Amino acid sequence: MKQAHSIFLAGILMLKGLFLTGQPVKVGLFNSKAIQTFLFSPMLGEYTMESGVQGSIKLKPGSVVYIALMGDKLSARDLQGNNLMEEIITITACDSTCRFSLRPAFPAMEARQYQGTCQFRAGIGRIAAINIVAEDNYLAAVVAAEGGTTATPEFYKAQAILCRTYLLSHFSKHETESFNVCDEVHCQAYKGMNGRNPAILQAVVATHGEVAVYDDTLLITAAYHANCGGETQSAGNEWLQKVPYLKGVEDPWCSNSKSSYWHIAIPKDKWIAYLRSNGIHLQEPSKKGELDFRQDTRQAYYRIPGDSLALRKIRADWNFRSSFFSVQEENGDSLLISGKGFGHGVGMCQTGAINMAAHGKTCEEILSFYFEGIRIRNIMDIPAGPRLAVSLK
Ligand SMILES: [Zn+2]
Ligand SMILES: [Zn+2]
Repeated sequence: MKQAHSIFLAGILMLKGLFLTGQPVKVGLFNSKAIQTFLFSPMLGEYTMESGVQGSIKLKPGSVVYIALMGDKLSARDLQGNNLMEEIITITACDSTCRFSLRPAFPAMEARQYQGTCQFRAGIGRIAAINIVAEDNYLAAVVAAEGGTTATPEFYKAQAILCRTYLLSHFSKHETESFNVCDEVHCQAYKGMNGRNPAILQAVVATHGEVAVYDDTLLITAAYHANCGGETQSAGNEWLQKVPYLKGVEDPWCSNSKSSYWHIAIPKDKWIAYLRSNGIHLQEPSKKGELDFRQDTRQAYYRIPGDSLALRKIRADWNFRSSFFSVQEENGDSLLISGKGFGHGVGMCQTGAINMAAHGKTCEEILSFYFEGIRIRNIMDIPAGPRLAVSLK
């Protein structure tokens, strides 16, 4: 979820009783890939495949079920000769620690391991594979995928609180597809057991139910990014919507990192053609130094004499690592783009947060540093239920 996040809007929904934290999460797996055949295999614990006609079929670790789309139904075959034809096939875990492997066979992709139950639904030209997984196990996998696996506990706690806040404020995002969230950065990256470590699960359990709120009960827009380059971006610059707790803050915690700096040389005529195609007025012939632009602190616009263009647009069009860059004409026909940071820059800077945690800061201190005026609360302690900012994408 390092890309654009939903945006806070003043219209607010009151949600009471919806967020019973600890509920299972339904995650759409390989959702954008239109998979037509899967190989399912239990790895740990026993699984049960339910069938209206053949009753319950027990599946032991090491067994394999081949699930294929056949018209508007699914066929599920195993090596014992069971062969089901159903619209929905659910393979249920004996408990939340059961683990299975799932490999897309057509189109072929690498297998991943997951905890919990798996449900398959026949769709149009594709199978929807849905992992029904305990919330803590889901969050531990998301923290590993989004935050890496080499940090210290207070960083994992901060990341877990943000991932939980995001999950609960987007629990209906894929409602029409029979699951809550997908496994890609459209929601939050989730790769199952791959890359998880015990410290991450401990951090998720230690913060169980904790969310970040503004104004006592409003779930925040839980934005984060890899590296801010020394100053975070305000939501107003990035998403054109001011958010009281998403202001730019100076960040001394990430500036010594290698990934804080990037450079790209690009042909001057290509840059000029791009600016002109966006209606930017330039002198003819172009004057030396006309394209130069310095960004010592974050700005919203690339400004040259007489005109300007939004930096977030330039970043998106050129696929730059950040919008925190300067432009300098070099001798000859090229321009040097010198940038700082990686990602949209709004909210928590992960590089800075990892460094803060390594220097003894608590997860509350980390989150309060990047999100001004927020509080960490257990969702069960919010009597009327949390409020949810209406989200825009
Ligand atoms: Zn999604
Ligand atoms: Zn930073």
